Amino acid sequence: MIAVISDPSPQRAEELYAFSLSLGASSLAINIEEREGVNIRNHHFTDHAIADFWTALWEAWKSDPKIPVREFERIRAYTLTPGQDSESPLTDPFPTVAWDGNVTLYSPELSGYSSPHYGGFSCGNVLKHPLHHIILSGWRSSWVLDYARGVEECRESCRLFDFCRGGHAANRYFEHGRLDSTETSYCRNSKILLMEAVGGSIREFVEDWPSPPEQGASSQKFDNRPSWDNWGKKATKFDNSPSWDNWNKKGKKK
Ligand code: SF4
Repeated sequence: MIAVISDPSPQRAEELYAFSLSLGASSLAINIEEREGVNIRNHHFTDHAIADFWTALWEAWKSDPKIPVREFERIRAYTLTPGQDSESPLTDPFPTVAWDGNVTLYSPELSGYSSPHYGGFSCGNVLKHPLHHIILSGWRSSWVLDYARGVEECRESCRLFDFCRGGHAANRYFEHGRLDSTETSYCRNSKILLMEAVGGSIREFVEDWPSPPEQGASSQKFDNRPSWDNWGKKATKFDNSPSWDNWNKKGKKK
């Protein structure tokens, strides 16, 4: 279950966790509402409100840890294997193919949008060119190059880079109108304040993390769920990339 939070408060956090359990959700993921795409509402969540939300959600989870919460699992995974995910987000082009064949890289949320500065975010069309050609030429487009600069700035300037890996292109664009920026409200609410509010508590709790729930038989066959669903698995690097993520790796798909 993915919940979009438009009213962060401790009470809402407790209600949300209880509600997700009552629904029978197998996991919970949190998206603090973002200014993105057609959602142009400006939010003025205070740092205090966001931090209190994360703290209350953590306390609610810790008192009844029945399902994994994506954000807490990410910090746990990072604590167990710091630096494991420190490679650049640019390694994975994450191509999105739209209804008309247009391809956008890195952020599906940019699909169909254009900017006065960059022009369209489409890098080509699969009805005209092979996908791997589109990805190769897309890497040279001005907005992708700017995004790469922004990620490098993050690497240089942000102490959370190893955890966050540089954020998403769409948040940069929809918040700042450009891709070579660094901090956004998105990363502040969902990474920085998350880590500040509960990072220390999660690190202290790692040794006492609850046992994983029973895994269904079907999950043994082909498990491509995000790694936070695989809680309890040993901390060897878990490759959850779909096969097209490995298109530029040598050899056969794993
Ligand atoms: S938390 Fe924000 S500023 Fe830091 S690496 Fe992530 S996107 Fe960049």
